[in-house]
Order: sequence, then structure tokens, then C-alpha cells
Amino acid sequence: MTSYPHLTPEVRGLGMTSQRARDRLVDRLEKEGIRDRRVLDVLRQLPRHLFVDEALATRAYEDDALPIGRGQTISQPQVVARMTELVLEHGVPKRVLEVGTGSGYQCAVLAALVDHVYTVERIDELLRNARRRFRRLGFTNIRSRHDDGRLGWPDEAPFDAILVTAAGADIEDALLAQLSPQGVLVAPVGPSGRQQLVRVRAGEEGAWRREVIAAVSFVPLLGGVG
Ligand code: SAH
Repeated sequence: MTSYPHLTPEVRGLGMTSQRARDRLVDRLEKEGIRDRRVLDVLRQLPRHLFVDEALATRAYEDDALPIGRGQTISQPQVVARMTELVLEHGVPKRVLEVGTGSGYQCAVLAALVDHVYTVERIDELLRNARRRFRRLGFTNIRSRHDDGRLGWPDEAPFDAILVTAAGADIEDALLAQLSPQGVLVAPVGPSGRQQLVRVRAGEEGAWRREVIAAVSFVPLLGGVG
């Protein structure tokens, strides 16, 4: 786990953004079935209130998605925890690609657990805000890029895990092509109202093994850059 260089009261949080608020959120996630201690410990420490606008900071430790501007959202903590668990379940990946940086929260959770995280975001303004948060919290193992993440990050492939945080019609072949042989991809798939969280791993004889995990609700995976 990264140790934060500047544990100012603002970073640690006070009142509704305090350690107690984070502890309560983690208790709730445990009750809802999140089991991986490593994931729970990161969520207990990482100040989610710094990943949303100040006006929303007091709601940062409710188990809800919140708006982050440009029609996008920071994912619900339970979904972040579940997706991270799914990525870690068959061994801790070394290099992870995230598609859809958004606020940067999911990326920071991953960066606290694995060696290197590569993250791609199509909206420059969101990416710049996320980069500021990574710097402020002292993360040095995150590389980020303004691009259409449906294309992955070919120059840095292969990845041991790929996590997509916006829902496409199906899983992009370009992303599957950038997975390492033991790699795992977790992504929401399907149209609004009928999305499923899916995990894909390499199976026998080059076939993909696909598991449907749960019904979810994500913003759409869009083409091009904004
Ligand atoms: N992981 C984020 C979730 C943000 S919501 C977090 O923890 O806050 C999903 C994000 O995916 C949005 O910021 C949206 O702009 C971005 N997105 C959508 N389509 C994309 C694409 N093709 N490439 C990169 N990012 C994309």
C-alpha cells in the first residue's frame, strides 16, 4: 500500500469524510459480500472524498456512484471492490490496464495493490483532474493517457489484467489481444438497463472462458476522444 506523503487533515478527512466514515463503508461492503482483505484494507485507507467535487465530499463514503462532471460518474464502492476482487482472485497481476480513468478512484485502488497501472480516458478534463489526484496522493506507479481506450494501449501490452469501467456492446477484440496468456479481463457489457459484469480468461485451446458475474449499471463506452 502506498503511504501518503502529505497526511494533512484534508487528505485524512474530518467528520463525514473521516476514518470512521471509511470504516463504516468497509463494514457495509463486508456485509454485502466483499471478502478480499487486501481490497477492503485499501478501501479503508484511500480517501475517496478527494476523488469527487468538494460539494459532494460528505457523500463520498455512501455506497453510491456520484457525478464527476461531463455526464460521467465515479463507480459505486461496492462495484469497485468487486471488480478489484475479480482481478486479484487468480493471483495478483503485475501490470494492469484500466479503460475509463474517470475520477481516478478505481485506478488508485489498483495502484495500491499491483506494480503498474496503465489507464486510458477519452475526456481530457477528467484525466487532468485524475492526474492531479494521483500526484497529490504520491502514486508513482500509474501511467495515464488521453485516448480511445477501446484500442487498449498496444505499446505497453501485454497486461496481466484489463479492467473496463464503461459498458460496450461487447468485449473489444483489441483488448483481448492485449491480455497476457494467464490474463483476466473484467468488463460491463450490454445496453443501458441490461448490463452484465463479465470476466474473461483464456480457456482450453485458445478459446475464451466467459463468466457472467452480476447485473450492473455503468456509463457507456464511447468512441473517439472528448
Ligand atoms: N473508473 C472510473 C469510472 C468512471 S466512469 C472511476 O473510478 O471514477 C467511466 C469513464 O469511462 C468515464 O470517465 C468515461 O469518459 C470513460 N470512457 C468512456 N468510453 C471510453 C473510451 N472509449 N476510452 C476511454 N475512456 C472512456
